[in-house]
Amino acid sequence: MKLLIAIKRVVDYNVKIRIKADHTGVDTTNLKMSMNPFDEIAVEEGVRWKEAGKADEIVVVSIGPQAAQDTLRTALAMGADRAVLVQTDAEVQPLGVAKLLKAVALAEEPDVILLGKQAIDDDSNQTGQALAALLGWPQGTYISEAAPDGEGRITVVREIDGGLETLSLATPCVITTDLRLNEPRYASLPNIMKAKKKPLAVTTPEELDIDIAPRLVTLKVEEPAARKAGVMVGSVAELVDKLKNEAKVL
Ligand code: AMP
Repeated sequence: MKLLIAIKRVVDYNVKIRIKADHTGVDTTNLKMSMNPFDEIAVEEGVRWKEAGKADEIVVVSIGPQAAQDTLRTALAMGADRAVLVQTDAEVQPLGVAKLLKAVALAEEPDVILLGKQAIDDDSNQTGQALAALLGWPQGTYISEAAPDGEGRITVVREIDGGLETLSLATPCVITTDLRLNEPRYASLPNIMKAKKKPLAVTTPEELDIDIAPRLVTLKVEEPAARKAGVMVGSVAELVDKLKNEAKVL
């Protein structure tokens, strides 16, 4: 079984982001960038399938600037076999990403495409669903368990409101990963060194002949409203009084 895993280079989840002064977006100058956490989970899952003999090849793909090569190398160090960078400095929205991933999928012919459930920079949660629709493939989203049955089907458990849903997907299919699927490994130093020698191909949206022109316009990006400072109360009676008379929630 061949896996294609989509990974995005995003602002590291530990970084406190700054909104640009003109409110057009996030200022990413000099910020630490890392692999989107849900995509790390997707890579980890693929590597575990390979280690268990359930997958033969893992191809990772990223769409972004030249620096996204670092993110691809991290995935190679975690255990992926090969990488493809669709290099562009342009803003690529989820529909454009899905169209590019479709083009890569048609060339690579994977059995399963794994993506994160969402990218933590734009929080769109659209790409996997759009990709499955464009390809006409079955999809399992928000996956917390996944098991290939060795006969061309994947059983997945989806985290849904108020419970879990178990589905059996025919391959080829699209899967998007949720937080509880696994805990990604750290790449070891020897594997980081080995990853430098693994193949990394570079293409472009133009070479793939895909129109990535944005369809959405960001009107405004704002910080969340600042929270009011809390106060210490001296007794339960004082707390109840404040809840009744100040907060008026009792
Ligand atoms: P989104 O729909 O933007 O929240 O992203 C969902 C998932 O799509 C991510 O977790 C990635 O797996 C994939 N994805 C989104 N943007 C890119 C990109 N530029 N390059 C590679 N994968 C991406």
